[in-house]
Amino acid sequence: MPFAKLGLSKAVLEGVRAMGYVEPTPIQLRAIPLVLAGRDLIGSAQTGTGKTAAFALPILTKLDHPQPASGPRALILEPTRELAAQVETAFRDYARFMQLKIAVVYGGVGYGAQTDALRAGVDVLVATPGRLLDHLQRGNCRLDRVEFLVLDEADRMLDMGFLPDVRRIVERCPRQRHTSLFSATIPPQIETLIQWAMRSPETVEIGARRSPAETVRHALYPVANSQKTELLIELLKRVNFDSVIIFCRTKHGADRVAHLLKRNNHSVAVLHSNRTQKEREQALRGFRDGRYELLVATDIAARGLDIQDVSHVINYDVPQHPEDYVHRIGRTGRAQATGDALTIVTAEDLPHVTAIERFIGQKIERTKLDGFSYQYTALFDVEKAEKQGVQIGRARGARVGRGYYFAPSRRR
Ligand code: AMP
Repeated sequence: MPFAKLGLSKAVLEGVRAMGYVEPTPIQLRAIPLVLAGRDLIGSAQTGTGKTAAFALPILTKLDHPQPASGPRALILEPTRELAAQVETAFRDYARFMQLKIAVVYGGVGYGAQTDALRAGVDVLVATPGRLLDHLQRGNCRLDRVEFLVLDEADRMLDMGFLPDVRRIVERCPRQRHTSLFSATIPPQIETLIQWAMRSPETVEIGARRSPAETVRHALYPVANSQKTELLIELLKRVNFDSVIIFCRTKHGADRVAHLLKRNNHSVAVLHSNRTQKEREQALRGFRDGRYELLVATDIAARGLDIQDVSHVINYDVPQHPEDYVHRIGRTGRAQATGDALTIVTAEDLPHVTAIERFIGQKIERTKLDGFSYQYTALFDVEKAEKQGVQIGRARGARVGRGYYFAPSRRR
């Protein structure tokens, strides 16, 4: 079904056309009519499914009538500054043929410009919870005209301890409103929030809630702890990549890995929450523009970011929460492209690997790099015993494991 049949306004359809979208994605097909019909919505699609447009397009259609400037009519809460900035950009893109005022507020930057924008009146406000509460307390804006409330990435807001702030914000919105909530998983606290903040919501679930993008090919690389960085460098030499995100567990680890990769002549950007807002924006812009071939990131910093054309995700550290594995690889295989997710595994990671495999409902292939001088690790014995994946020393030639072809990188 084309976009034109969904009931979106003319100006919004023009915005969609200008973005080059041809057909709605599955979540857009299902969510847009529901929001237009005034229903509360729970969306549990994974990132990369087009969920921003799924809520933005119908909201913009509903706002497509001029109102005197004042407090926001649509409020979108996001867990991180980067996500907030990205969603604001998406709203601006979709609303380019409309006369709406769109603003974003998040922490880590000065109040001046944000205060001016809020005081001048906005139609759509995208915000992180903490900074929005600050503005509310300073009297810079009110939420008594909110018609549409979106709680995006609710599970991550929970992880980051933002739910009390979110509740305080929701309390300031009118009871008579439409609420949408997006979350990859629905833990009990989110269920409680849903009961409290939403009215007979309709759930739109795209694919199995937990399954990662189907276009992604997965592989595990078992190695001794002392050889992790060596293996990473070797992987980067052999994988024919265009752009890679490397995930680390800690900020310190991310800095260390980035430093090492730079010493190995890679152009590297780093994204984690210890960096200033300016540094993070610069890193992201540089990676998007192709100035950096590698982006080293921690989970929180990279959550839900719209980074196009990532050919590979490499998990330098196995994620401790299985959901993070799904979120990480959501960066690759976006919008029908194919991508690879490579995970470096040490013996200590085994329980986390088992949890991930259970979570995504599939066994991930174990792979060895041909010609890499492996030190012994107890993991190899476990692997043998399990008789899973590629047997040690069996991989030959350029083909390593099912579906994997390692060619020299185009960049070297
Ligand atoms: P999201 O899941 O909202 O982060 O969107 C992921 C990416 O898909 C973004 O780059 C969007 O611009 C893009 N996108 C969203 N909807 C469509 C569509 N209907 N056709 C093509 N690309 C889309």
